[in-house]
Amino acid sequence: MKLLEERILREGQVRPGNVLKVDCFLNHQLDVELLDQIGQEFYRIFGQDGITKILTIEASGIAIACMTARHFGVPVVFAKKAKSKNIDGEVYTSVVHSYTYGRDYDITLARKFLSPDDKVLIVDDFLANGKAMRGLLDVCRQAGVTVGGIGICIEKGFQPGGAELRAAGYKLASLAIVDHMDDNSLTFRQQ
Ligand code: 5GP
Repeated sequence: MKLLEERILREGQVRPGNVLKVDCFLNHQLDVELLDQIGQEFYRIFGQDGITKILTIEASGIAIACMTARHFGVPVVFAKKAKSKNIDGEVYTSVVHSYTYGRDYDITLARKFLSPDDKVLIVDDFLANGKAMRGLLDVCRQAGVTVGGIGICIEKGFQPGGAELRAAGYKLASLAIVDHMDDNSLTFRQQ
């Protein structure tokens, strides 16, 4: 997606540890017009796939999911990062290793918001090693839902998450794939 690539080139900052900072438009301040176009692009790619819910993980995924859901006309449900007491087993839980913070955290999602009739589109801001996505896929497996697709804003193609998910057969669309980045340059994969 040209518009997203241009924004990354203009405003993205490469930080130590292979972290791309895009807090001017995606992770802190939000460019709603850009998010709307991202949602429209996800609809172009997954709009005919019978999606019934958009699934994401807090916090940065929520805005992307909401703007995407506007195009699909379906609800958003997001996994929470807070530890939740699993009284009577009313939540699905999984453990995720955080790329940016370097530690494990629990995710939880109330059972009542996903059912086996659902076909979900999972969206997130970044895909790096794929740990966050694995946690969401684990929740989907527990809920018995069908994963209709995975929509990512920025995939770091030099990390293995994207290749692993494609090899596993998921319909994965990344709107910008960064193949290389350092202090002086950043290049995208041609798609
Ligand atoms: P993964 O679980 O695929 O290794 O990493 C994905 C998650 O870590 C995303 O939800 C995102 O919040 C965060 N993340 C990974 N790499 C980056 C990065 O380069 N920049 C930012 N801002 N977040 C990242």
